[in-house]
Amino acid sequence: MNTLKIAIQKSGRLSEDSLKLIKECGIKFSNGKGKLKAVADNFPLEFLFLRDDDIPGYVEDGVADLGIVGENVLVEYEKDVELVKKLGFSKCRLSIGVDRNWDYKDISELDGKSIATSYPKILENFLKGKNIKAEIHEISGSVEIAPSIGLADAVCDIVSSGSTLLSNGLKEADVIMRSEAVLISGKKLSSEQKEILNQLIFRIEAVQAGKNNKYILLNAPNDSIDEIISLLPGMKSPTVLPLAMEGWSSLHSVVKEDEFWDVIEKLKAAGAQGILVAPIEKMIL
Ligand code: ATP
Ligand code: MG
Repeated sequence: MNTLKIAIQKSGRLSEDSLKLIKECGIKFSNGKGKLKAVADNFPLEFLFLRDDDIPGYVEDGVADLGIVGENVLVEYEKDVELVKKLGFSKCRLSIGVDRNWDYKDISELDGKSIATSYPKILENFLKGKNIKAEIHEISGSVEIAPSIGLADAVCDIVSSGSTLLSNGLKEADVIMRSEAVLISGKKLSSEQKEILNQLIFRIEAVQAGKNNKYILLNAPNDSIDEIISLLPGMKSPTVLPLAMEGWSSLHSVVKEDEFWDVIEKLKAAGAQGILVAPIEKMIL
């Protein structure tokens, strides 16, 4: 087979960003509402739209060659698949939540308690590692209400802002794992399929590098150029172009998103003016 089938969550917290990434990779397809399958027009990729829980199993079985799921789901289902790449979206934590009046000090307080969760395997392994014996109640949804209806003493659930816990009278007491969306693949891809996967990874990396960096342009007096260049590591070294105004130059470079504010302050102090910062759509390193 010279195509890859990728399984994407049909509807939920992963769907929109998964499709956005595909689009940013320049891959086009028409997605009829409610359709369970689609074929890309300009890349050898087919899409299957599934519930996220089913994705690791389908990838293991070879029904799909690739999938996008939360790491939490990947780890919970313990399927024999490869983690190809972390994708940087749908970031969340799997955390212990307890009554907000519980003067919780550490995880040992869960010894002998009951905990409701949709992630029994991850929780069980975590507790085993800490030598804690607790009763695990597996429930598939609305885990946060378990303590208030007397089903369990604590919960182990997905948290991002913590507002769901808070609105149920709970607080985040311990973090068990951190998760984000990941690209997974089956272990039986043909060499043609591996080649397509490499092309896809190349595009994803270009999109990710673009997001992590900004294009920066600035004007500076010629005598401060050396100092400014030392502040701008850039891809190799910055482009320096003479300005029409005598004694001034324009510098073009790339800065990392997370170093950006820090660098801007230093550039200003070194004499840079008219600083422009622009997003980068794709970046090939
Ligand atoms: P499905 O119907 O496909 O089984 P679901 O209800 O199990 O969907 P979602 O709530 O859509 O799943 O969450 C999918 C994934 O998104 C989770 O496994 C987790 O990795 C991530 N996620 C869940 N909640 C959040 C959140 N609040 N913020 C960020 N990411 C989240
Ligand atoms: Mg699910």
